[in-house]
Amino acid sequence: MSSDSAEFDYDVIIVGGGPAGVSCAITVAQAGYKVVIVDKKSRERIGDKTCGDAIDKAALLRLNERIGLELPSGAEVSDPITKMSIAADDIDIKLSLDAPGFQVNRLIYGQRLLKDAEKLGVEVISDAPVRGILTEEVNGETYLTGIKYRKDGEEVVIRGKFTIDASGAYAAIRKELPDEFLNDGIKRELDDDELWPTYREIIQLKSEVAKHRWRNEIILMYDDDYPPPGYFWLFTEGEGALNFGIGWEKTQDLGKLKEKLHAEMAQYFSPDQYDVIARGGGQIPFRPPFDSLVFNGGALAGDAACMVHPVTAEGHGPALDTASHLGTSIISALKDDRRDRDSLWGYNVNVAHHYGEKHMAAHTMKEMLRSVGADGLKFLIEKEIFKEEELNLIFAGTEITNAVSNLEKLKRLLKLFMRPSLLLHLKKLLTYSNRVNDIYQAYPTNPEDLANWRKERNEALNVSF
Ligand SMILES: Cc1cc2nc3c(=O)[nH]c(=O)nc-3n(C[C@H](O)[C@H](O)[C@H](O)COP(=O)(O)OP(=O)(O)OC[C@H]3O[C@@H](n4cnc5c(N)ncnc54)[C@H](O)[C@@H]3O)c2cc1C
Repeated sequence: MSSDSAEFDYDVIIVGGGPAGVSCAITVAQAGYKVVIVDKKSRERIGDKTCGDAIDKAALLRLNERIGLELPSGAEVSDPITKMSIAADDIDIKLSLDAPGFQVNRLIYGQRLLKDAEKLGVEVISDAPVRGILTEEVNGETYLTGIKYRKDGEEVVIRGKFTIDASGAYAAIRKELPDEFLNDGIKRELDDDELWPTYREIIQLKSEVAKHRWRNEIILMYDDDYPPPGYFWLFTEGEGALNFGIGWEKTQDLGKLKEKLHAEMAQYFSPDQYDVIARGGGQIPFRPPFDSLVFNGGALAGDAACMVHPVTAEGHGPALDTASHLGTSIISALKDDRRDRDSLWGYNVNVAHHYGEKHMAAHTMKEMLRSVGADGLKFLIEKEIFKEEELNLIFAGTEITNAVSNLEKLKRLLKLFMRPSLLLHLKKLLTYSNRVNDIYQAYPTNPEDLANWRKERNEALNVSF
C-alpha cells in the first residue's frame, strides 16, 4: 500500500520510552526518519522501573555492534554480574551458570538511552498517557494510523505511518487492537497463567553489615513455600546493597507478596540492619512472545510483545535487542513505501529464530519446574543430574541431546531411579526442548503459512498458544 507522507505527522509513533521504545526509536532515527516517543511519565522519570535490574551482556554487545549503543558504565552500573545461580530450599544448594551482565540503575541508564534518542532527533512527549488508537479502512483492510493521548487536560491526536506498542506489560495499544489484528495469536489480555505479579525491595545495608557475600551474583531461589514456577530473587546491587524480590503466577494463590518477601529476607538480615531505598511491584508477562507481533500500520515490542524469559524474567535485554530488529524492518518498509503487516514480517522471523526459540525452550523448563517442585529441583541439583553447560544450553534454547554422552546419561539415569517421577518429567523436558530448535528455525517466511505452523507447533510441544 502506498502512503502519502503529507497525511502523517510522523513516520513512527512509539508509545513508551522504556528499553523497547528507545531502542526502536534510535534504530529508525539513525536512518533519518521522523520518530516520536509518547510516554505517560514525566521527562525526568522515563526509564525508571521496578525491576531486578539485571541485564545480559550478550544482548548489549549485539546492540553495540548493530546500532552503536554504548554499554552501561559509571553510575549506570551498580554491580557487574558474572554468574546466575539457581538454588532450591537452601540458598547454598545451588547450580551456578556463567552469566556475564550488569546490575543497572534503571533510571540513570534509561535516561541516558532517552538522551541518545533525542540526540538523533527523536521527539519526546512526556506526561502524556495514551488513551486510544486511530484506525482506518484502506482497500478493504483495517490499518492502525495513530493514537490519542492526554496532555495538559486536552486530548491530542497524532497520526503515524507506523505505531509501535512499547508501553510494557499493560500494553496500552495492544488492549485496543481491532479483532482483525488478533488472528495471528495476539491477545488483548493475557491469561492468569501468563502473568506474574511481583514485589521487590532494594536495601542498603547499615555499617555493621555493610558487605554481603553475593557480589557479582544473581540468585533465583525456589522453595515449596512459594512453589515453582514462583520464586524469590536475591540480586547484588554492589557492595552494600541488594535487590530482593518475589513473584509467582497469578493462578498461584499464595497470599501477600510483600509478607512472603519480608519473611524470606528475614532469613538473611533483620529489618534493623538495613534501609529500604526502593520498593514497588509490577506485572511481568511470563510466556513466549506472541507468534506474530505485526499488523497493518504497527507492531508490538518488549513486554507488550511478551518478550520476557519465562523462567528468569529477563526482559530488559530482549526488549532492547528485539526492538532494534523491529526498527530495521520498519526502515525497509518505509523505504518501500509500505505499511502493511507483511512489510514487517522480517521482525517476526528474527524473533522466532532467536528469542522465540529461546523463550519457548524456557517455557518447557518452567513447566518442568512446576511439575518437580522445589524439592525435586533440590534433588536434581544435589545429585548433579544437570550440569552447568547443559543448563546453559537449555537457557539458550539449544538442543542438548548430543551434549551428554551415553555413559554419562546412564550414570544419571541410575541416580534418577530413586525418584522415578523426576525421570519422567526430565524425559518430557528433553523431548520438548530438543524439538523447539527445529520448529522455531522453520518459522514461516510466508505469512500465509503461519496458521499451519502454529497448529503443528502446538501439537509437537503440547502447548496451546
Ligand atoms: C519486579 C520486576 C523485576 C524484573 N527484573 C528483571 C531483571 O532483573 N532483568 C530483566 O532483564 N528484566 C527484568 N524485569 C522485566 C523488565 O523490567 C522488562 O522486561 C523491561 O523493562 C521491558 O521493557 P519495555 O520497554 O517493554 O517496557 P517498560 O520498561 O515497562 O516501559 C514501558 C514504558 O511505557 C510507558 N507507558 C505505559 N503505559 C503508557 C501509556 N498508556 N501511555 C504512554 N506511555 C505509557 C511507561 O511509562 C514506560 O516508560 C523485571 C520486571 C519486574 C516488574
